[in-house]
Amino acid sequence: MAGIFSGLESLGLGNLTGAKLFEKEDKAKKKVVVEKAAPVVLEEKDYIFDKTIECPVCETKFTAKVMKNSKAKLLSSDLDLRQKFEGVDAVKYDAIKCNCGYSALSRYFPTIMPTQAKAIRENICMRVKVTPNTGETYTYEEAIERYKLTLACAVVKNAKASEKAYICLKSAWLLRGYQEHLQAKGELSEEKKKALYSEEMEYLKNAYEGFVTARSSENTPIAGMDEWTVDYLLAALAYEINDYESSLKMISKILTSNAANSRMKDKARELRDLIAEKAKNGAK
Ligand SMILES: [Zn+2]
Repeated sequence: MAGIFSGLESLGLGNLTGAKLFEKEDKAKKKVVVEKAAPVVLEEKDYIFDKTIECPVCETKFTAKVMKNSKAKLLSSDLDLRQKFEGVDAVKYDAIKCNCGYSALSRYFPTIMPTQAKAIRENICMRVKVTPNTGETYTYEEAIERYKLTLACAVVKNAKASEKAYICLKSAWLLRGYQEHLQAKGELSEEKKKALYSEEMEYLKNAYEGFVTARSSENTPIAGMDEWTVDYLLAALAYEINDYESSLKMISKILTSNAANSRMKDKARELRDLIAEKAKNGAK
């Protein structure tokens, strides 16, 4: 075997001259390894990664934790289109925050007008104290803070109604996720539950108002949704904030339209049945 390794001494790699090019596989040893392998249990940190992003406000690069695309399995969707994934709450990772304080939902983060950036610098960056998040994942408390800063930035930069509505909607989803998380850990006291639920409702009301404004003043897609998805969302939000009359109006608009797709019509029917159920129970 000296052949192919000869000459390594002169490169200072004499220790390799006795090496084998192909090790014989030790089958017995391999088998033990297979038996020892533990089942793979994915944790929240496995569904996210550190992404380098350039901030359009302070023009420096920073890292943010974002979801790995299509890694997490979709478990279910709520009435208002919130998606639940296995092992991770995607909503926690959708608000991007730079160390300068500028924050936005991922779909809006890169796009900002010079006048908006100036307003953010003067009203956010020069005042805010940003605490860097150092853990492997974001806690709900950290995520809630990011969303609050995101909404503050949207107000300062005078964002469109749809962007503000979308932040409110996702903030409501975040608080719902937080309640589920605390419930699963047995840490949701009655007091906490009441406070978080009322905050969630406040965000849902603002989301509804914002999307109503956006629907009448902006062109679709609105926050990435086509008109029928937005109309269905409006129906669902109206239902959630107990405005059944507005919800039924929107449902009938979807059901009588030739353009709405069958998936949205099915969802609208589901919602109509829920309202009928509530009316029946309320009449008893
Ligand atoms: Zn920045």
